[in-house]
Amino acid sequence: MDSWQQSLARSLTDPAAVAARFGLDDAAAALVASRYPVRLTPQLLTLIGAADDPVGRQFLPAPGELAPDALPDDPLDEGRLAPSPAIIHRYPSRVLLLAGNGCAAYCRFCTRKRRVGCAAYHLSFTALLDGIAYIAEHPAVNEVILSGGDPLLLEDAVLQEVLGRLRRIPHVGVLRIATRTPAVLPERITPALAGLLGRHAPLYLTTHFNHPRELAPAAAEACARLAGAGVPLANQTVLLRGVNDDADTLAALCDALLRLRVRPYYLHQLDPVHGTGHFRVPIEQGLELIAALRRRVSGLAVPHYIVDLPGGRGKVALTPASVVSLGEVAVIRSAAGELVTVPNAGR
Ligand SMILES: *Cc1c(COP(=O)(O)O)cnc(C)c1O
Ligand code: SF4
Repeated sequence: MDSWQQSLARSLTDPAAVAARFGLDDAAAALVASRYPVRLTPQLLTLIGAADDPVGRQFLPAPGELAPDALPDDPLDEGRLAPSPAIIHRYPSRVLLLAGNGCAAYCRFCTRKRRVGCAAYHLSFTALLDGIAYIAEHPAVNEVILSGGDPLLLEDAVLQEVLGRLRRIPHVGVLRIATRTPAVLPERITPALAGLLGRHAPLYLTTHFNHPRELAPAAAEACARLAGAGVPLANQTVLLRGVNDDADTLAALCDALLRLRVRPYYLHQLDPVHGTGHFRVPIEQGLELIAALRRRVSGLAVPHYIVDLPGGRGKVALTPASVVSLGEVAVIRSAAGELVTVPNAGR
């Protein structure tokens, strides 16, 4: 069995090899990969059957990425919210600490597509330390979200150092790690890593699974290992055309996550990032999908449907309008669409 470092090193990154394996146009793949890097881990190579299947679409270079569109590179204005290179600080109580700029695999729809895997955005350990110093100077920060890039590409010893430094800041109550590794590099979740994370409780880990096929046995084992070590798990899914934009797929995903002790947390409306327009699902459809989920799965398995407003205006939960009117009685629309009266201000 390879170590996770060996698995990462064995990943397919050469566009010609990727094109040959999946029958893509050689020149087009090379052109896309020269702007937006490609990396297919051994786990992904077992999951992708064809370029247009639900996993292939997420990770294989596509011409749509270079198609001219009117979409910005940084719709959330993260550049403006970065007081230090490794910090994105939008909400007073919580801050993103970018632990690095590389990912185990590169999702083609990534919000940080402009920077992940690009040498120009390399983040040094010094930048990480500067970020921690920034957090220490801001007592309003209660929660630190390690993001990136993928924070779990840090070696255990480095991660331990970073988490230890954060834990020694008295006002930091909660740690969160956002990682794609359980899906794409499950061998990263070693017993040693799970133990290390468990010892820094309260530490929450958010996974990123978009399709039930990603919940392969190795991914399930990684989740079980984390949950068993006392690391609460929540999942973020991005709503993607041709991947998970139907109720059957989303219901299967959310049900399966709940069985793995992973609470579905957010279903993200795709951020309007340059080169990702081919993945967009209209909000009307997203609302219908959430309503369908509400009818079909446990309430514990229904994520919040979130849009992150452009210009750094923050996340907002989108719900099928349920409150029709308020007053002596409230009129509420049921999941089935009937209008139901509920006693409200009156007696
Ligand atoms: C999404 C995000 C957070 C975390 O938001 P939650 O709603 O707490 O999950 C924090 N900071 C930034 C900049 C974000 O984009
Ligand atoms: S793992 Fe996360 S940061 Fe990396 S490419 Fe995918 S969505 Fe982007």
